[in-house]
Amino acid sequence: MFSEEKTEEYTATKNACKLCTPLGASLVFKGIQGAVPLLHGSQGCSTYIRRYLISHFKEPIDIACSNFAEDTAIFGGGANLRIALENILLQYAPEMVGIATTCLSETIGDDVPMFIREFKEMHRGEEMPPLVHISTPSYQGTHMQGFHGAVRATVEALATDQGADDRKANDQKANEKTRVNLFPGMLSPEDLRHLREILTDFGLGFTLLPDYSETLDGPLWTEYQRIPAGGTTVDAIGRTGSAAGSLEFGRVLAAEKNTAGKFLEKEFGVKCHSLGLPIGIGETDRFFKTLEFITGMPTPPRYAEARGRLTDALVDGHKYVSRVKAAVFGEEDLVVGIVSFLSEIGVIPVLCASGGRSGHMVGKIAEIIPDYENKGIRILEDADFVDIEAAAEEVKPDLFIGNSKGYTSARRLNAPLIRIGFPVHDRINGGRLLHVGYAGAQRLFDRIANTVIGKRQDDSSWGYTYM
Ligand code: SF4
Repeated sequence: MFSEEKTEEYTATKNACKLCTPLGASLVFKGIQGAVPLLHGSQGCSTYIRRYLISHFKEPIDIACSNFAEDTAIFGGGANLRIALENILLQYAPEMVGIATTCLSETIGDDVPMFIREFKEMHRGEEMPPLVHISTPSYQGTHMQGFHGAVRATVEALATDQGADDRKANDQKANEKTRVNLFPGMLSPEDLRHLREILTDFGLGFTLLPDYSETLDGPLWTEYQRIPAGGTTVDAIGRTGSAAGSLEFGRVLAAEKNTAGKFLEKEFGVKCHSLGLPIGIGETDRFFKTLEFITGMPTPPRYAEARGRLTDALVDGHKYVSRVKAAVFGEEDLVVGIVSFLSEIGVIPVLCASGGRSGHMVGKIAEIIPDYENKGIRILEDADFVDIEAAAEEVKPDLFIGNSKGYTSARRLNAPLIRIGFPVHDRINGGRLLHVGYAGAQRLFDRIANTVIGKRQDDSSWGYTYM
């Protein structure tokens, strides 16, 4: 594994390849129907997160804030949280409030669970939506820890024993529609729509958590809506304990002990199927096989046809992409998913990098490419873009594949950037990028092959008309 020794002078992250932890939590709360995310901390954090999400999704994003000031940092934020909650309940009438802490409130040691208990006590007898709290100190994690932590915290707070009773009853009803939970990880709205389609075509009922496919990629409004329509209902999350099984995406996530799917398995006996992100043929095959196993029905013909078209396209385009070198960066599970796909199509992922530091990414890439060291593949964990660019200068990739934050490095090294994942600030299709399923692999393959062809045309002094 390539690793840059951090010298004594190297004291800070420069141009981080990760985002702040409460950002990931806020994204999950935006995918729950009627939920309002509340950041317990300073306005600057909520403004940064809103700006980031808006520039990717191109939608208005409300994130409330308990508005710390100098005195709050000294005396604690209990009073601010109370006022923020009262304002939100009054102005938004939410179905849930998701509370995530910022670095400041974590550093001063605010006891948020106690503040919430006091708030509920103060309003005893009044109707109150669930107040779900997740601790998200950014200096301990990335946006992915915030994302997965918020999914788990929401399930832990809302799934009930009633669910287990329902499941036993459901088992006895022959005609009961099989219902599963899907925890997809941080995918695009287009990915979520595609996953919904697949589950529907298998005749499954499902709880997809989170589901921001409408809330963050909805139709044009004629009037401003305080909370956009759509999202997973609080009721459905309550019933996750009665599902026939849970599917949880992410090979890196699968190595974690404490996930939403594992919680449901332990508490309610809901079998957890841990799978890689279904990017590329192999991982998508595993997803469909699991659906076949759960439903007892074969894959619907339209997906078998899409798979067939995809394999035909891979044969047609192999000569363009074979042995092309790519630098892949982003969230750990996305990197692992893309590496899996690239190794299927003959592209060599010479550099695989993430700002995540779960410690699992190297092992997960080794599961896909056991001889990665012999192939000269460099893997960087806990990396920033200074590390990534330095490594890229050595391995000289033909392509960069990752989010918009890699643009400056790609430009300096004169290699095209294929934008995937989050954030995509400098294009208008962040929410419409499809990564998953056979259809996602088809789009990724076409983009990669056409980018390679386009670069060869641009670099040639005479130009090619046929390639
Ligand atoms: S201070 Fe912490 S919580 Fe606030 S924006 Fe920065 S990383 Fe995120």
